[in-house]
Amino acid sequence: MSLHRSPSSSSSDEGAAGSAGIIERYESNVRSYSRVFPAIFTRGKGAELFDDRGRRFIDFFCGAGALSYGHNPDAIKRRVLEYLEGDGILHALDASTAAKAAFLEALARTVLEPRGLDYKVQCCGPTGTDSVEAALKLARKVTGRAGVLAFMGAYHGVSLGSLSLTASRFLRRAAGVPLHHAAHVPYFVGPRGAFDSVGYIEMLLEDPHSGFEPPAAILLETVQMEGGIYVAPAEALQQLRGLCDRHGILLVCDDIQAGCGRTGRFFSFERAGITPDLVTLSKSISGYGFPMALLLMRRELDRWSPGEHPGTFRGHQLSFVGATAALDFWKDAGWAPGLAAREELLRQALAPGLAEIHRGIELRGLGLVWGVDLSRAGGAEVARRATSFAFEHGLVIERCGRGDTVIKVMPPLNAPPELLREGCDILLLSIRHALHA
Ligand code: PMP
Repeated sequence: MSLHRSPSSSSSDEGAAGSAGIIERYESNVRSYSRVFPAIFTRGKGAELFDDRGRRFIDFFCGAGALSYGHNPDAIKRRVLEYLEGDGILHALDASTAAKAAFLEALARTVLEPRGLDYKVQCCGPTGTDSVEAALKLARKVTGRAGVLAFMGAYHGVSLGSLSLTASRFLRRAAGVPLHHAAHVPYFVGPRGAFDSVGYIEMLLEDPHSGFEPPAAILLETVQMEGGIYVAPAEALQQLRGLCDRHGILLVCDDIQAGCGRTGRFFSFERAGITPDLVTLSKSISGYGFPMALLLMRRELDRWSPGEHPGTFRGHQLSFVGATAALDFWKDAGWAPGLAAREELLRQALAPGLAEIHRGIELRGLGLVWGVDLSRAGGAEVARRATSFAFEHGLVIERCGRGDTVIKVMPPLNAPPELLREGCDILLLSIRHALHA
């Protein structure tokens, strides 16, 4: 997530008249994406976005993973509109509603039961960090331990608990207070190559002179998304699961961005055949860009007392309606093969072209998330020039990783093949242009 923007990088919206000028005048300096994408967006459909000047963009950003089914998908929109037309209840805190019951049933039938997952569901406050906070609190309550372990390069949110696990120095420094009870170890793979993370953690746990206390939980992204699209090997994930079992540590999979199909399966951990103790979900779970966050927990870990973790917006009803409709995509026999075909399409559309442009470019990813790492091909400045050129040529795409050196390719899961090809062509052209500019 390229959040580290200096005001001077805000470029073309600076001093502009109209909507951009109003936003600049009244919205806090903390805003970031209005600087990266200098447009006033008005409409979105599928994999396309439109602005107030009638420009059309292909969306390879997907609301940072919140719009995996594209903009305003008809199948979900219909259900949402019907619910609104029928004066369906919209706000209920966590009172029982038909919309919530329908969602829980759909989640159980479509996702959990077919995968043999016996999870209970906690409806959290509306955004991803809320489910991370709930996971931390529950893990500490269940284990009686305070410390939590995360990985270098991790992103888990920016409220104080989740921020203690987010690795970015820039974001951490904004806390203004020490971030306690968290430690970071190298991820399985990173800018310096592969690392035996499990061996290292094992050493810390087994050496009584390590200066390290066993943690309550290990927070894991099976694919580091904001960290630069690093894919943990399945075998390492299995070893991590074993280590957690041996030491009574809860394994928390943060599937907020990598979940809901982004890696080609509903949960990102499925490819390793492991079952985390807790799973955080948000972003695309509501299917329509509505705010929604869930914590899934193994049934026996549900040690909450009633009302112990309240919140006014726990499970917004329209989000339940959207999420229920979105799960219907997963009932379609063609859905999973469609994801596999698009994964192959992206690989084919990017790998040969990138290799031809520059030998130092690395392409990493799986499913429908790919990182084009330019750290050895011009670095941050080339990545910035490439994404800005791409935007001017109709492609919304973002950077991530250390120093924003990785371009993150994250189109809708159901994007038409011709739009995927068109977006990849713009990206290749942009990188070529940025390297030779
Ligand atoms: N975890 C991961 C893996 C994320 O990608 C994000 C958001 N980028 C979060 C947690 C935090 O979610 P939110 O911004 O909705 O609080």
